[in-house]
Amino acid sequence: MARRDARAAPAMTGPRAGASAPRGADAPVFDATRLAQATLEVLAANGDDAPALARRQAARLARLVDVARAGSPLYRQRLKGVTPGRTPLAHWPIVRKAELMQRFDDWVTDPALQLNALREFIADPARAGQAFAGRWQVWESSGSSGEPAIFVQDAQAMAVYDALESLRRCLPHPLQRWLDPLGLGERYAFVGATDGHFATYVSTLRLQRLNPWMAARLRCFSILQPTADLLAQLQDFAPTLIATYPSAAALLADEAQSGRLAIHPREVWTGGETLSAAVRQHVQQVFGCALCNSYGASEFLAIGWQCSHGRLHANTDWVLLEPVDAQGHPVPAGVLSHTTLLTHLAQFAQPLIRYDLGDRLTLMAEPCDCGSPLPVIEVLGRCDDALQLAAPRGRSVTLLPMALTTVLEDEARLFDFQLQQRDRHTLVLRLPLPAAQAAAALARGCAALRAFCDRQGLPGIQIVGEAGPALQHGRSGKTCRVLGLPAAR
Ligand SMILES: [Zn+2]
Repeated sequence: MARRDARAAPAMTGPRAGASAPRGADAPVFDATRLAQATLEVLAANGDDAPALARRQAARLARLVDVARAGSPLYRQRLKGVTPGRTPLAHWPIVRKAELMQRFDDWVTDPALQLNALREFIADPARAGQAFAGRWQVWESSGSSGEPAIFVQDAQAMAVYDALESLRRCLPHPLQRWLDPLGLGERYAFVGATDGHFATYVSTLRLQRLNPWMAARLRCFSILQPTADLLAQLQDFAPTLIATYPSAAALLADEAQSGRLAIHPREVWTGGETLSAAVRQHVQQVFGCALCNSYGASEFLAIGWQCSHGRLHANTDWVLLEPVDAQGHPVPAGVLSHTTLLTHLAQFAQPLIRYDLGDRLTLMAEPCDCGSPLPVIEVLGRCDDALQLAAPRGRSVTLLPMALTTVLEDEARLFDFQLQQRDRHTLVLRLPLPAAQAAAALARGCAALRAFCDRQGLPGIQIVGEAGPALQHGRSGKTCRVLGLPAAR
């Protein structure tokens, strides 16, 4: 299963011109000097050839290893015998989320990062977008593996994300951007999970805090609210730019096509789920707009960006990606991996070196015609379905997979589950546990789904709880967590 936090939809990071570093302990993490430096380095790497890129990676990796060994007992132990530049990366040990979270104090390089204090911080929704201890942005990652994690980002990491997001994003309307470089005419809508400290939501709140003058033009919209309310709010806001998940973009396009939503975005940014060619075409046709896809995770916000040729390039000057098989051995270019090992070259407080990201991807052998030296990747993301259920008076209501998984994770504390639509009136929640152990969790999950369906105007939906292994696999061969009716897939 994909362990990537799918709630890392495309991020809107980065201060715009005119931003000044806010002060105070609760101010978001921002350092203008680091941003200037990261900007220069990102620009320089755009012109790298392969040896220059390799040198850049090697220097950053060596520094990361030095910091990790000096400050993290866990890495000091795991990297014993490793010599950067001599020991091939493929021979370094692999680390996994469960181990890192279990040994949190040994993992982090700064003793100010106390797990209990971080948990307390993310338990308070009002603190989303603020800095922890005045120094770190904090993101929680749910993932689908039952191992919720906390990732912190210091000023250096945020500066790198800001530089990557602002300099390596496709510009469908370059002339307009030239006439309006500050984006003063834009109205940004983030449509997503807004009930926790999730990477994209926190990044959007940070952007608001960094640019108070544009706060009114930047709004977050929850996908957990009834669709009619979401549509009314979006219509009222009239966004020119929407950042969301592909399934939510498809829902908005459906509603616009049906005449229930009249908005005219110029750009839709998607991320967090697999974007199919059909959904891309549907959204572009209905809104008559450009669609830019990106790839990010709570571990590294800006992993991949879509170039002008529609390919996804990986930012390998700042993040190393190793596609590997089930045994952790490298797979050749052009072959879909079992999982991917990620090394974060800009984050030192909580080092990630050969970290099992859980995502399956293909590193393409051929360079892209756009001329970028950065490799092209294809990501096999989540394959969950949107569910169309029967509402009163012959209507139908669409439930988004991201909303359903958020409800089950956050309200019922379930992470390993499968939700399957049996017909237009019935949902089956399945937990891979023996019946006796599953009872209490099923009751929690069914109650959370019941309340969510009621809020969505679906009072007649039957919710059935079952214990047992996941039954169906999606198109990718991975177990899907939210499965629609076969005809709708
Ligand atoms: Zn390209």
